[in-house]
Amino acid sequence: MSAVAAARLILTRLREIMQARTHAQGKLNQVVEIIGDSLHSEVCSIYLLREGMLQLFATRGLNQSAVHVTKLAVGAGLTGTIAQNIETLNLAEAATHPEFQYRPETGEEKFHSFAGVPIVRRERAIGVLTVQHTEPRRYEEVEIEALQTVAMVLAELITNAGLVDDESTAGLDAAHAGQEVLPGLQLVKGLAFGQAVFHQPRIVIEQTVAEDIEAERQRVYLAFDRMREQIEQMAGQAEFGVDGEHEQVLETYKMFAYDEGWSRRINEAIDSGLTAEAAIERVQQRTRMRMREIQDPLLQDRMHDLEDLSNRLLRIVSGQLGTAASLGLRGDSILIARNLGPAELLEYDKRRLKGVVLEEGSLTAHVVIVARAMGIPVLGRVRNARGLIREGDQLLLDGDGAQLTVRPAQGVLDAFDARLTRSREKQASYALMREVEPFTRDGVRIEVMMNAGLRDDMPMLSLTGADGIGLFRTEFQFLVSAALPQRDRQTRLYRDVLEAAGEKPVVFRTVDIGGDKSLPYLRSETSREDENPAMGWRALRLALEREGLLKVQARSLIQAAAGKTLNVMFPMVSEPWEFDAARDVFESQMDFLRRCKKTLPDAVRYGVMLEVPSLAEMLDVLIPRLSFISVGTNDLTQFLFAADRGNPMLAERYDWLSPAILRFLRRVIAATVGHPVQLGVCGEMGGRQLEALALIGLGIRRLSITPAAVGPIKELVRKVDTREIGKAMSGWLASPPPNMRTAMLEWTARHDIEVE
Ligand code: PEP
Ligand code: MG
Repeated sequence: MSAVAAARLILTRLREIMQARTHAQGKLNQVVEIIGDSLHSEVCSIYLLREGMLQLFATRGLNQSAVHVTKLAVGAGLTGTIAQNIETLNLAEAATHPEFQYRPETGEEKFHSFAGVPIVRRERAIGVLTVQHTEPRRYEEVEIEALQTVAMVLAELITNAGLVDDESTAGLDAAHAGQEVLPGLQLVKGLAFGQAVFHQPRIVIEQTVAEDIEAERQRVYLAFDRMREQIEQMAGQAEFGVDGEHEQVLETYKMFAYDEGWSRRINEAIDSGLTAEAAIERVQQRTRMRMREIQDPLLQDRMHDLEDLSNRLLRIVSGQLGTAASLGLRGDSILIARNLGPAELLEYDKRRLKGVVLEEGSLTAHVVIVARAMGIPVLGRVRNARGLIREGDQLLLDGDGAQLTVRPAQGVLDAFDARLTRSREKQASYALMREVEPFTRDGVRIEVMMNAGLRDDMPMLSLTGADGIGLFRTEFQFLVSAALPQRDRQTRLYRDVLEAAGEKPVVFRTVDIGGDKSLPYLRSETSREDENPAMGWRALRLALEREGLLKVQARSLIQAAAGKTLNVMFPMVSEPWEFDAARDVFESQMDFLRRCKKTLPDAVRYGVMLEVPSLAEMLDVLIPRLSFISVGTNDLTQFLFAADRGNPMLAERYDWLSPAILRFLRRVIAATVGHPVQLGVCGEMGGRQLEALALIGLGIRRLSITPAAVGPIKELVRKVDTREIGKAMSGWLASPPPNMRTAMLEWTARHDIEVE
């Protein structure tokens, strides 16, 4: 008999039992009879997990007096091993297995052969199904397959009857029991505590045994069609995530989606009497079990992809399509996902979303930029996070230490609590700085502004007491939209932002998209991919060629700022003519609106971001046309050092406190002296205390930084004497110390300036 026929025979009989109104114990007693009978086994037993122990719950062939008496620890004996490792055992001679334990009360000494399969629910064993035989022979593959299929159906019966509860489940699987620390890559720093929530929740399979096999086959067939369509669509608009990585994943998706072996196995499982959902899960379980035996990381990654796809298929077939966002977060939560798009992140309730853990992710991924703006810590590159973490697990996300503690022990929790409290106290003390004006000890007023990009960032302006928005990244709206934002939507956003800012200035940066911040709806315009996205067709380069885009943005900004001052800043200006061309676009929009008798801004101030080193050589030419310059140290340093800012291998290689950068900045500052042009720094560098001190030492008087840094930087400013640090900086730049950071730290210690 084939595996399919064997399983089908058993399932047909099981279905009747499951539908009967007998109590659960009665059902299990019948189940062991049917299975034993069908597989010609003298013994068939079911062990269930109760209070952390595997209890013999029903048996045919062993002593009935052992039922509810024989209990095995997880990991003990053959049954315990099956549960612990979630593996199948098939032995001609049970006693030869190193884990074999003899339980006299069962009377099992006369049985030689032994086979057992785990009863799995949500990837965890909740029990074990075993068969035994007097004659020493291994069970055939078809019999094992039939047992595994039956175990799936049993999992449903057992859970529905409430025979094992969730708490006891937690005790079973050692791999999922104790504390575990998973390393990752810090993408957004910070500490967070909450329960694990999967971005894509696990599917609950409600029915495992099919009523109508033909109908189930049809359902899977349609689901495959839908899934293939979705993948083709994704390939057509590949966007979020690291480019190369993402494409590889899509390729693998495609390979599996069209893999005949996979669909055939699912169909066979349906033939054996399972519903479409159960069949997909059955095949997935089998793959998982096989994978446990293979250690090759490349293959494991592949399997990860298959798992993803299998879940997608399950979601389609079961109609359970929503993400955790649509279900709503219930308490403090840490989101677990392979990867996310920025729009998906923004769908979550910000009050409850405390952190994000990604299996992929990189520093420049859009979702990370948005999370940083939202102040949500993100840990990336956590390998197999979705396999190692369970929904509902307690998690401690330590962005600063680049690690995630899963199911933390009490001691760890206490220590973390203390750290969290300290960091909150610190935050609270910074909040007290809100009303404090940042004057240095020698009376120099440093402007401390904040960076923003979303409407939701605006409340931070009054919460931090920042002097204004020194950089509003308008591309965020583009990144979180499915299509190019229309003019009225842009105008509305800019107007809201200006209104929220009140009297405080806002500097709008025109879109910095293209390159690594590519948009699916713009990509079709470019036939080729940039090999070097950061140095590619991005920001103003793109905007000047897509003049329509810049025009729409110009008009939106001008109209939003009617009757107010409009500060416009152009990103990635590399030569003065680019600035002129961009300004012309704005000026012609002003003319147009003037002719239309629209109210115009009271003043328009133009500025550039200094991010490309070539511009520093041309400042004398450009400065007379500028109201302000903002140094974007994020991009500037990657160009100065020729070191990709998104490459984690280089993340710690070059220091912002390098004499090369500081000397460069000093030259820029010198070029502005005597000109009525405002000079500031808006890169991440300015948000760190020691780096900010260096900038002040160079003569920078305006910083625009991430909101969380406003308090700490104000605190620093009040401890500084600009003359002292200015003098020290001149000395260091004239003859650079071997390590600038060390030299500065020694200096701060001598001057009683505490830096983080
Ligand atoms: C910069 O490059 O320093 C900057 C502030 O802009 P962004 O980080 O958005 O590229
Ligand atoms: Mg930049």
